[in-house]
Amino acid sequence: MVSSLYIHIPFCKKLCGYCDFFKTMSLVRKGEVLERIAEEMAERSSLLEGTTLKTIYFGGGTPTVCTPGELGALLRCAERTFDCSEVEEITIEANPDDLSEEYLQGLRAEGFNRLSVGIQSFHNSDLQMMNRRHTAEEAVAAIERARKAGFDNISIDLIYGLAGATLDQWGENVEQAIRLGVEHISAYHLTIEENTLFGKRGVTTAPEELSDAEYELLCKRLGEAGYEHYEISNFALPNRRSRHNSAYWRGTPYLGLGPGAHSFDGARVRSWNKASIAAYLEGNSLEDETLSLSERYEEHVMVSLRTSEGVNLEELETLFGGRKRAEFEATAAPHLERGVLLKKGDNIAFAESHWLISDSIIEEFF
Ligand code: SF4
Repeated sequence: MVSSLYIHIPFCKKLCGYCDFFKTMSLVRKGEVLERIAEEMAERSSLLEGTTLKTIYFGGGTPTVCTPGELGALLRCAERTFDCSEVEEITIEANPDDLSEEYLQGLRAEGFNRLSVGIQSFHNSDLQMMNRRHTAEEAVAAIERARKAGFDNISIDLIYGLAGATLDQWGENVEQAIRLGVEHISAYHLTIEENTLFGKRGVTTAPEELSDAEYELLCKRLGEAGYEHYEISNFALPNRRSRHNSAYWRGTPYLGLGPGAHSFDGARVRSWNKASIAAYLEGNSLEDETLSLSERYEEHVMVSLRTSEGVNLEELETLFGGRKRAEFEATAAPHLERGVLLKKGDNIAFAESHWLISDSIIEEFF
């Protein structure tokens, strides 16, 4: 069986207005956290016993607050702990202003072969509003430097649905991404969580008509430019889908290390470290839950319907039984008739034009 490893680096130099991830701006305990991650890897390696690691992903937070040497030390630790003979993808999330030529070469030398760069917008007014550290010019220069350093698998994140932005501005973001030729684009609608800077300041999102138009433009232009829309928020050039995220969506086992990181045993057990650096360093932050069969079914259907492959009926029956399959098909039937859902062989998936309203329909399956 194949598996994945996730390492959470919970440190950031500046806090972005919309961000709801677990992170802190104090880097004082960074060294201790990195040491503890190495220990945790050894302690919890049995979760991936008998599996072959295919992908490794450093997320955060901002993993690029660490030196390439610090990150490489964790990779060497993984190589000693797991079967890494078939690892295909080693990704690091990065902030553009950390990506100097020397830093990028350091990442390549340590073995990273994929970058996920948090760009969010190519407009300085948006970036200032979001409290990002970088400018639009720095973002473009960072991608160009990454190419020169030999990265041929680059993903960028963009955010739409900003109040005050225009459709033209968003269109320019999409065109700039296409011009840069990045292999992968994740585009997320802005959401405002109460505990974020935006939530506290009462920031709002764009009107629904603008968000809808932005999503439509995104799908249309990236489709024309040769990107596959393979998940509701993710687009990739051929053979450049995120293998790590695709593994999550397929439900294969993954081990998540670091404060706030989540793991899954590939069957029913989820576990996670509490979002607390103090608890993590004390070694008492791990919690877990065993999903019931119906919780696992709901999760499987929800995650699968967010991908272009959708739900495979045979797999659904194997995992959850013939009755669940029949229930699923009965709920899907009226939506298939209206063209909201499409049948492709043994798979049922959303038509791209209905992905944006998919959440309300997905609820009907539960
Ligand atoms: S979006 Fe990324 S860089 Fe910004 S605060 Fe959140 S984790 Fe840190």
